[in-house]
Amino acid sequence: MAVSITKRGGAQSHSSKAVPGDRLSRKRSLSDGYEKEPPLCTRKRLAALQALQPRCETDGATELAILKTSCTPDSCVKGGTETETDTGSFLELMSSWADTQYSVKKVLQHLRFRQADDNVPLNESVNKKFLEFRHDITEECGTEDKQHSWAVIEKREEIVMYGPYYPNYNNGEHSEDIIIKQTQELLECQSVSEDWKVYVFTTNSPCLARNTHACMLNLVQKAQEWWSMYGVKTCIGYLKCWGFKGAKETLFKDINYIQVDCVDQTEDHKRYAEAAEKTEINPLCDIVFAAVKPPLRFPRFALINIVQGHSWKSWFKKINSVFESLPEEEKEICTQEANAVLEAAQVLLSEERSERVEECLERGCAFALDYTFSSKLSDAIRDQMRLTFQQCWKEMVRGKYAEFIREKLTEDFNQCTVQLFIKDVAKFTKEYLEIGRIHFLEEAPQVAQ
Ligand SMILES: [Zn+2]
Repeated sequence: MAVSITKRGGAQSHSSKAVPGDRLSRKRSLSDGYEKEPPLCTRKRLAALQALQPRCETDGATELAILKTSCTPDSCVKGGTETETDTGSFLELMSSWADTQYSVKKVLQHLRFRQADDNVPLNESVNKKFLEFRHDITEECGTEDKQHSWAVIEKREEIVMYGPYYPNYNNGEHSEDIIIKQTQELLECQSVSEDWKVYVFTTNSPCLARNTHACMLNLVQKAQEWWSMYGVKTCIGYLKCWGFKGAKETLFKDINYIQVDCVDQTEDHKRYAEAAEKTEINPLCDIVFAAVKPPLRFPRFALINIVQGHSWKSWFKKINSVFESLPEEEKEICTQEANAVLEAAQVLLSEERSERVEECLERGCAFALDYTFSSKLSDAIRDQMRLTFQQCWKEMVRGKYAEFIREKLTEDFNQCTVQLFIKDVAKFTKEYLEIGRIHFLEEAPQVAQ
């Protein structure tokens, strides 16, 4: 078997040293098996993520149905004993999550009612285990920020660690694929005892959308299989919420400053759509509008946090066009002046206090008005440079602000996705599966378990 395995003292003694498994470079002749598995009957509904507009055509009846199926009442789960109805609803639930188009809508419906920061942390004892294992792996392999996974089979008499594994995007393989294969092999080739536990670590939460079966659904399906076949429990811990497709989520890509402003200024979707038509922006569908509308989605911000390095100066290139056609000598003086004003404007970017976007725009305008240009410049050139500075400032602040909003919306959406998924499946799997975010000791969990 390609994986190297650590055997050490069992659950009670954590003192022996971990020797984590091989790196991606020398692994995996295990490609069969996984692909040949019959696909989940639920997966036929898996739909590729589509662009914003087609994804959001409004269908009142469908949306209502979505909310009804998603919010499976707890009464369906009868004290952990699996009935036929439970199996049916569980498959139905998994099927709804495999249908990305459908589940994206469901998350958007929830996003508008969502409380800030209601992450799903792991329970304390499982979290502690993950921290111990992570400590061992880190000690052996160093810290790693990139996406990777490792896993542990905890037995009474020994602990088996394998990984870290990295995704290989060239062949579409995610790190969780390898974890699943390895775990499956390890369980198959041993006489499994019912008190074993599988711990799966992944930097980002397993994906929920992919051109093939999503890792999160694969893992839940496997956890159910391992439970029913071997009586083994599974814990999945992650550091960041990936949602469907992480930073590549395109749901909010059309949200620019004019959109933000238009959403902010209008009371409801009908009025928004009218205003959008007037300003000639591509209107957001009502479900996205409702998700981004609440005031907390348009937060104050500190410019210092969203403008990094010297790249901001590229927003001010237009200033040069003011004196481009002047004779060489004058042009040189103007260039110096342009550099000087940008140098002085650095002070505007060091503001650490968070402010409203209007305040930030005003600061830039006031700065340009107060700034004393060299008397070597003509009045006309001075006025023109002042005006152009103000325009560039406005474009930069609005552009950066919209980017900040898009990032925040995507982050909220991804968090909400993972959280909703975990809460959904927990209704059926709490006996044998726990999924949650790993929290560090200095950070208090946001939700008590
Ligand atoms: Zn994945």
